Amino acid sequence: MKADKFGLHDPQLMKNFSYINGSWHSSESQIAVTNPANGEVIAEVSNASIAETQLAVKAAKYALTMWSAKSANERAGLMKKWFDLMIAHQDDLGLILTLEQGKPLAEAKGEIAYGAAYIEWFAEEGKRVYGDTIPAPSGDKRIIVIKQPVGVVASITPWNFPNAMIARKAAAALAAGCTFVVRPATQTPLSALAMAELAERAGIPAGVFNVVVGDDARGMGKVLTQHPDVSKFTFTGSTAVGQTLISQCATTVKKVSMELGGNAPFIVFDDADIDAAVQGAIVSKYRNAGQTCVCTNRIFVQKDVIDEFTEKFTAAVSALTIGDGLTEGVNIGPMITTEAVDNVDKLVKDSIAAGATLALGGQRDAAGDTFYQPTILTNVSHDMPIANNEIFGPVSPIISFDNEEQVIAMANDTEYGLAAYFYSRDIGRVWRVAEGLEYGIVGINEGAVSNASAPFGGVKQSGSGREGSKYGLDDYLEIKYLCMGGLTK
Ligand code: NAP
Repeated sequence: MKADKFGLHDPQLMKNFSYINGSWHSSESQIAVTNPANGEVIAEVSNASIAETQLAVKAAKYALTMWSAKSANERAGLMKKWFDLMIAHQDDLGLILTLEQGKPLAEAKGEIAYGAAYIEWFAEEGKRVYGDTIPAPSGDKRIIVIKQPVGVVASITPWNFPNAMIARKAAAALAAGCTFVVRPATQTPLSALAMAELAERAGIPAGVFNVVVGDDARGMGKVLTQHPDVSKFTFTGSTAVGQTLISQCATTVKKVSMELGGNAPFIVFDDADIDAAVQGAIVSKYRNAGQTCVCTNRIFVQKDVIDEFTEKFTAAVSALTIGDGLTEGVNIGPMITTEAVDNVDKLVKDSIAAGATLALGGQRDAAGDTFYQPTILTNVSHDMPIANNEIFGPVSPIISFDNEEQVIAMANDTEYGLAAYFYSRDIGRVWRVAEGLEYGIVGINEGAVSNASAPFGGVKQSGSGREGSKYGLDDYLEIKYLCMGGLTK
């Protein structure tokens, strides 16, 4: 196929309409999707609203009977085709993702492979939805447990992983026999629509996977959280919005899972392999310009090794290249908006005013209005605002600590509990710290923790439920207890 103006091999992947019940829906008004690297309009997408959201729920409800009645093998076959198409179009999907979200192209292609991996993994895991038989308290009875799909699943997803945050939810839902409606973030609808195009090509039936794009987040959110035909609501985004959506779900007592914000500690003990810790911190902090929920937010370094770590870390961060994600060799792309840059810059300036030392960066970059330099702050104390807010940008505050008990207490002193990381080679310490950290995910001598076979999710105000792994399927299944009586002669 001929490449289009963006260099897409398959321009049909760039869609402009919501995908509802297997067809593409236009609306009167449009949303301009812009490239955060330069502000250019990439596409105008039809702006759906409440009526289209209701239509999508209705379509998902109608398709549920057919989809849930298919065997797990049949569903897996269709999902495997969807996975194959995503991998076959990885380059185009990655390009669309970089254009609308900004992350470097290599990272964007990595996200496509990562998202697709959930579809492949859950397609297989859907074949292993086992029930139980339970010994009954009397001889004339039998107790059997079966698992069934929850029903229609509705979701709202953020802009920072426009493919993977949808894939993680849709894969588990479809594998379990549920049908699915997603409202992607207004800034990044194109990746979601490209997924819909490939779902259609894979033969996933109409109504099973629906994408409604619209800028009325509140109105559409109310439909998705309050519609009586939606049985489960799943959200990835900020804790503040998650709290509102949980309360809206209460009106119809929906099953809910929430992947919310984080404030990840990254702890370097004095027995750590410092070079490995530096590499782990780079991976966990600067991916996606620091805009991930599992990004390192606070770096704690034991005081005996803080000079060595800071020197090596500063050298590694200095080597990162900032620029348009489509430029070869770029490691740090733009932030999503200029407001996001303003927020990060304010946190940095407030920290310096409160006594922190600027070791690197600390300002907007000449690459453009949405670019912020990779930044390191030292002499940070645990009570500064930067240690208590989700930074969501390429800034590393370094905090000194004396001992294990003190650092565990500081690491846990937050309402968040998504990911934590620590580096140590002492086996006793590894167990003590791993068990002492109040987080859903702990990276031990490892900065990259997420994959389809592992349970991803948080505790405290970072949310509830898990995505990925055998545990991830449970969120989309209901348990039904069958009691068979009258078995005596
Ligand atoms: P956000 O402001 O909460 O937005 C997320 C989604 O919610 C977007 O689609 C947004 O729509 C929608 N939304 C906003 N207000 C709404 C409302 N009142 N009713 C219904 N929907 C509403 O979060 P964000 O800034 O996009 O994303 C960053 C946050 O997500 C961070 O806190 C990050 O940690 C978290 N996150 C968590 C995970 C995880 O797995 N735990 C993964 C990725 C990100 P619009 O686009 O139209 O505003």
